[in-house]
Amino acid sequence: MSGFNTSLLHDGVDDYPNGATLVPIYQSSAFKHESAEELERIFDNKAMGFSYTRINNPTIEAFEKRITKLEKGFSSVACSSGMAAIFNSIANIVRQGDEVVASCGLYGGTVELFEDLESFGITVKYVADNKPECFEELITDKTRVVFAETIGNPKLDVTDIKAVADVAHAHGIPLIVDNTVSTPYLIQPITLGADVVVNSSSKYINGSSDAISGILTFNGKFKFDKEKYPGLKPYLKFGPMAYIIKLRNGLFRNTGGCLSPQNAFLNNLGLETLGLRMERHCSNAYGLARYLDTFEGITVNYPGLESSPYHEVADKQFTKGYGAIITFRVGSKERAFKIINALKIPNIVSNIGDTKTLVIHPASTIALHLSGKDKEASGVYDDLIRVSVGIEDIDDLKEDFSAALESTDNE
Ligand SMILES: *Cc1c(COP(=O)(O)O)cnc(C)c1O
Repeated sequence: MSGFNTSLLHDGVDDYPNGATLVPIYQSSAFKHESAEELERIFDNKAMGFSYTRINNPTIEAFEKRITKLEKGFSSVACSSGMAAIFNSIANIVRQGDEVVASCGLYGGTVELFEDLESFGITVKYVADNKPECFEELITDKTRVVFAETIGNPKLDVTDIKAVADVAHAHGIPLIVDNTVSTPYLIQPITLGADVVVNSSSKYINGSSDAISGILTFNGKFKFDKEKYPGLKPYLKFGPMAYIIKLRNGLFRNTGGCLSPQNAFLNNLGLETLGLRMERHCSNAYGLARYLDTFEGITVNYPGLESSPYHEVADKQFTKGYGAIITFRVGSKERAFKIINALKIPNIVSNIGDTKTLVIHPASTIALHLSGKDKEASGVYDDLIRVSVGIEDIDDLKEDFSAALESTDNE
C-alpha cells in the first residue's frame, strides 16, 4: 500500500504514446477501426474500445481510471459537470413512482435538481437530521436510492457514511454519496459502504477552477435486485460492470453530458497536486476557523471545531483534516455584506475548491431560489458568510479577516 500522494501520481496511470509523461489530449470526436467486425464488437459490449467521444475517449478514460483508484471504486464515468454526474448517478436506476431519501444539508443545485425530478414522477424526501435513524424512518418499499453528502455544502453537516450505508443496505438500496467537499483525500466513502461516489471535479480535484466537470464512481459490489431495479435486468450479466454499462449504453450517452477531452486533461493535471493542496487547504481552514471563533458576536460553523454538532462524526471518519469550507454568522445581512466587501484577499465568487480563498453570501446567491424552510435546512441564514479557504499564507488570511471584522464591529 502506498501513500495518498504516491498513489495519486502513479496508480491508474498508463504508459502514454512516445513516452509522454502526461496523458495526451485526444481532441478527436470519433475513432476509426480496422474492420466492421471490430466496431460491432465495441458497440455490442464484447470488446473495449473507443468509438465516439460522447461515449468515451482516451483522455477522459485516463481521468476516470485515476479517480476510480483514488476513490477505491471499480469503474467511473466522467461527466460535463458535477450536476450531470449527480443526475446520471440517480436517474440510471430510478423510474417513475420511485422515491429517493436524501440528507438535509444538500448543495442548492442538487436540491433544485431534485425538484426537477418531481416532474418525472420521482419523489425526494429529506431527512430531518443526518442521523442514520432519520434515514431509516423515511425509507418505504418505493425507495430506490439513499443520497447524502460527506460534508454538506453549505451546512457542513457530516454524514456517518458507514451507519447510513448499513441502513440503506438493510433495505437492499444503494447509497450514493457526493464527496465533493471532502474529496478522496479526506475519505473514500466506498471503503465505508457507499455504493456510488460522485465528485464535482470542478472543485478541489481540478483545483484551479479552470474547467467544469463531474465524475461518478461505482463500487462494483452492490447487488441490484432485478424486481426492484427492472431497468438493470438486461445488464446484470455484466456483473460488477452492470451499473456502468447500463449508464454508458443508455442515459449517459443519450443525455450527452460528456466531459470534453481538454477539460479531462486539465483535471488530470490538477489531480497531481490534490494531496498537497488539500493538506494546506485543511490546515488553513482549521487555523482560520479557530481564529474567527475568538471574535465576539461571530458564530463559526466548521466540523473541525468542537462546537460543531458533527465534530464527533468528523473525527471518527476523517484522519487528515476537516475540509476547507467554513461558514460564520455575523448578526445581520448588512454586516455580512460589509465584511465581504471589506475583505481584500478573498474573491467574491460562487465556487469552492479554488487555490484562492473565496467568499460568498449564500442566502442572496446560491440559495436564493430556496424557500425559507429549505434555506434553513441547508444551513443558510441571512447573516451567514461562506468561506472556501484557499492555500494562501494563513497569517495573511487572519490579518485580512480580522481587519474586515473590526471595521464592521460597531453595529
Ligand atoms: C459544486 C457542487 C456540485 C455541482 O457541481 P458542478 O460541477 O458545478 O456542476 C455538486 N455538489 C457539491 C457539493 C458541489 O459543491
